[in-house]
Amino acid sequence: MAKTYNVVTYGCQMNVHDSERISGLLEQAGYVRMGTGDEHPDVLVFNTCAVRENADNRLYGNLGHLRPVKTRKPGMQIAVGGCLAQKDRGEIVRKAPWVDVVFGTHNIGSLPVLLERARHNAAAEVEILESLDVFPSTLPTRRESTYAGWVSISVGCNNTCTFCIVPALRGKEKDRRPGDILAEVRALVDTGVLEVTLLGQNVNSYGVEFGDRYAFGKLLRATGEIDGLERVRFTSPHPKDFTDDVIAAMAATPNVCHSLHMPLQSGSDAVLRAMRRSYRSERYLGIIDRVRAAMPDAAITTDIIVGFPGETEADFQATLDVVRAARFSSAFTFQYSKRPGTPAATMDGQLPKQVVQERYERLIACVEEITWAENRKLVGQTVEVLVAVGEGRKDERTGRMSGRARDGRLVHFDVGSLAGQVRPGDIVHTTVTYAAPHHLNADGEPVSHRRTRAGDAAEAGRVPRTPGVLLGLPAVGPPAELPAPTAGCAAH
Ligand code: SF4
Repeated sequence: MAKTYNVVTYGCQMNVHDSERISGLLEQAGYVRMGTGDEHPDVLVFNTCAVRENADNRLYGNLGHLRPVKTRKPGMQIAVGGCLAQKDRGEIVRKAPWVDVVFGTHNIGSLPVLLERARHNAAAEVEILESLDVFPSTLPTRRESTYAGWVSISVGCNNTCTFCIVPALRGKEKDRRPGDILAEVRALVDTGVLEVTLLGQNVNSYGVEFGDRYAFGKLLRATGEIDGLERVRFTSPHPKDFTDDVIAAMAATPNVCHSLHMPLQSGSDAVLRAMRRSYRSERYLGIIDRVRAAMPDAAITTDIIVGFPGETEADFQATLDVVRAARFSSAFTFQYSKRPGTPAATMDGQLPKQVVQERYERLIACVEEITWAENRKLVGQTVEVLVAVGEGRKDERTGRMSGRARDGRLVHFDVGSLAGQVRPGDIVHTTVTYAAPHHLNADGEPVSHRRTRAGDAAEAGRVPRTPGVLLGLPAVGPPAELPAPTAGCAAH
């Protein structure tokens, strides 16, 4: 019988997409995903994050719980990958000797081989590479969604933000060639996918490797040529590298959504300097003004860190000022906490927890007042919703379905007379009847419903798979060993 696997993912979209690759690789190597009724798989992979607070405590806590499970289930293997594995390396098997495989962010493709070797040698395998051996997008990928897909345009980051561990763990930026990216997008659209999110730590510096600072805007325009691709999103842009041609490309390319997630981090120029983020609040707001001038309906979202070392009350007020001026439709807010290995962790001026907490609460109150007011402007408007799975926690109880509007807002809608006909992946137009700070409700009869190929796939339980080998993508760096005997191409 085929061995079963499960992947547990922590952290950001990069990790979620990497987990899709881990699943694709394992399935290509003959494993099957654990059934919903199974208690434990034969291979359990943790794809870890080093950015979130207490990430190591959570990982080691989970590993501790698995020790007796492994005793009861001989032959079970545990693998730990991702950013924390890249950071802690051999420390993981020293702390948890029942772990079988540790692999890093640069060698996901090696996982099946490492599992095989650990099984054969009955000893833990730890393999961490210092830089990318193959571009991960060419690994076979088992996609989680029938209607939306992630496509990496670059990995790594050339910036050195002082709070961020990413450059240390993901390395320098590696850009994928535009033709390869577009080929992967086309391959996804061919399976019925309607929406693609272009993914990079800093999408605005895309092209730095091949010397074209306008490459990202050109890439957006090129996605507009792909028949059947209805929505294009991207994450994350960086205000330092943001050029006006990207705004022009967004406005001129009909399938590019008018939504922009642009991290602010702080509204204080002094704090931005200490964070080593080389734009200033004026530049940030200038980009927003130009985005709104070109696309008045654009929804702008952001990330903000409160309580960075040395942040004064005046600095914090400057952040509130930018929040009020920017009129975000949503903001991810974080309390600063030390990340070992980052420059900010050893900076003077670390703030007491209660100061950070108190500012954080004021920030949330300010953000919510604005997001709620922005959302209320949409009441009475008809929005296009791409129906999703798992976006509405209360859907079962309320009888609604949920999805995202073109601008990225979450919409819970009543299916009315279409009950039983609307599937995840279908497109519904409906009129907003109520706004909350974090979502919209549409409780009237939907205006229209379009069945899509993504909806057909969802109904049939099919998930898109992109077999990297078909895309013919080049590897970067030195030639790599094939990750598994069955893998035809080794790349990310
Ligand atoms: S831009 Fe800054 S925060 Fe973003 S990944 Fe690079 S170093 Fe980290």
